[in-house]
Amino acid sequence: MTAASARDVRLGIGRLVGRTVTEVEARGKHLLIGFGPGGPEELVLHTHMGMKGSWRVRSAGRPWGRAASQALVVIEAGDHHAGCWAAVIVRLVARHDLELGSLSSLGPDVLVDRLDTEEVMARVRRRRALRPDTTIGELLLDQTVAAGIGNVYRCEALFLRRVWPFLPLDRVDDDSAADLIGLCTSMLRANLGAGAGRGRDTGAGPGRQWVHRRAGLPCRRCGTTVRSTELGRTPRRIYWCPACQAPDPGGVLSGPWR
Ligand SMILES: [Zn+2]
Repeated sequence: MTAASARDVRLGIGRLVGRTVTEVEARGKHLLIGFGPGGPEELVLHTHMGMKGSWRVRSAGRPWGRAASQALVVIEAGDHHAGCWAAVIVRLVARHDLELGSLSSLGPDVLVDRLDTEEVMARVRRRRALRPDTTIGELLLDQTVAAGIGNVYRCEALFLRRVWPFLPLDRVDDDSAADLIGLCTSMLRANLGAGAGRGRDTGAGPGRQWVHRRAGLPCRRCGTTVRSTELGRTPRRIYWCPACQAPDPGGVLSGPWR
């Protein structure tokens, strides 16, 4: 690499200069570009194309065919240039931090054009059979069930459906799980457009969220104080309204739950 630049300076993309590409690998819509030297020193540029992302290559001085100012990453090896546009994930990580095991076991990607709902639900049922105490809050973030759902949409979808985040999976039927995953997916897609606020389509108003990152503030629907706690084996912070999302003692979530 003779030059490297990135829109996000936090990537530290300059670390690639002087390195050599050792490997380019596609895993689903994840593209992994390895930069030597190998071993613990190896860096991997991990990009995910989502629905609109792309890599382009050109010779020096030739047009990209896309606005250069919009490129998220440009890497150069002499006259050979490669640029990445509109990816939904761009990160530069050490090979040993990449968790290739978890990448290879990823569930169907919610950002592809047509979500493989059958495969997602097969994974939900397998998880329910193996670990019935898995909470619905954990399930939505489990990338081996459906890949791509983030914490914002997990929290907001559970609020919108009035579901207690700690409900164990053996008390959530297939329709309810499918409904929640579908809601996360549609919110995620609706917010992919340029400049869209992440909370725009949750119904809470422009750029606002119902509960995510609102711990200690009054619920926008009922005024009860929004709470938060760590949830799951690799804990991520869940936000919920204890009144709107009250536990339903003994009941089975049979949905879509209103
Ligand atoms: Zn509330």
